Amino acid sequence: MEFIDLRSDTVSHMTDNMKQAMLNAKVGDNVYNDDPTTIELENIAAEMTGKEAALYVPTGTFGNEASIIAHCNRGDEILVGDVSHIVAYETGGPAFLGGVLTKTLKTTNGLMDINDIKSSIRFSSDDIHFPTTKLICLENALVNGEAVPIQYMKDVWNLAKEKGLSVHLDGARLFNAATALNCDPKEITQYCDSVTFCLSKGLCCAMGSIVCGTAQFIKKLRLYRKMLGGGMRQTGYMAATGIVALKELVPELKNDHAMARLLASELSKIPNVVILNPKGNINLVFFQIKDEKLDCDSLVKFLLDQKIKISIKSKEDKIIRFVTHYWIREKEVEHIVSSFKKFLEKMN
Ligand SMILES: *Cc1c(COP(=O)(O)O)cnc(C)c1O
Repeated sequence: MEFIDLRSDTVSHMTDNMKQAMLNAKVGDNVYNDDPTTIELENIAAEMTGKEAALYVPTGTFGNEASIIAHCNRGDEILVGDVSHIVAYETGGPAFLGGVLTKTLKTTNGLMDINDIKSSIRFSSDDIHFPTTKLICLENALVNGEAVPIQYMKDVWNLAKEKGLSVHLDGARLFNAATALNCDPKEITQYCDSVTFCLSKGLCCAMGSIVCGTAQFIKKLRLYRKMLGGGMRQTGYMAATGIVALKELVPELKNDHAMARLLASELSKIPNVVILNPKGNINLVFFQIKDEKLDCDSLVKFLLDQKIKISIKSKEDKIIRFVTHYWIREKEVEHIVSSFKKFLEKMN
């Protein structure tokens, strides 16, 4: 039996169709922009998000950071939520790479307050002491496992446009969000100027993300991609897997979500287990074990012996995140839940 890996959806590995697509891929040199498979993938991505153009980049972090520096000049300010991936997990990139100031706004359930956004917008043309706010960064789906309602995105978009700002969407799990909201991804991305999404998470690719936006923006981004060392060559081999992902794996995401709900419901039946994101509607389950005796390290080891890999979010608070993906279906969920119960019974 292979390992059941619940640590992230980034661990999801390629399907056989993806491996076959790699073997048959027609390739060129993507730095010369003549890799036909990469161009095809970018065209499909632009079409799916309703944008003029798209660019294949190595990672989601790369896509977000390159987008931020393409939207802003040095000394400009971006508004971004305090628990967002851009602030929490991208190593201070905006400051380091672009000399961009990040104004982090307090969030409730992952969302910034519209009035806070409004009162934070400022322009050096109004007061010589101020930096200029250029960009609002949103996330959908959120890292807390919830898809953001389209109305919220629309409200932020309207405010941004009224003030002449741009909106970048960190849509690492954009297709999870669209699946959860039961809408076309375009309904979400109509409310952003640029969007990054990952092929390497629930979509099973080994690597790769895509940024979509206007043709002019993507042209600028291409320059930054080269500057940051992301100008790769025969990317068609990887892009071929991305095309399979967008055609065959996007429709599978609803099953990943169903498995997350099943896991949450089964875990919630176990005494002392509390689901922390009951409103979660994508593939993430956060839960806490309210048992003083529980030792997280022994739990990890016990589950590893049962061929299950997990990671602990907080050892002190005994908070765990389970992430479902293509390789976790009913049989795996059953094994996870029964192994989990076995450990807790043994402990008590
Ligand atoms: C995973 C993730 C990213 C970054 O993706 P990498 O490919 O790991 O760099 C960005 N934003 C969000 C919300 C993510 O979940």
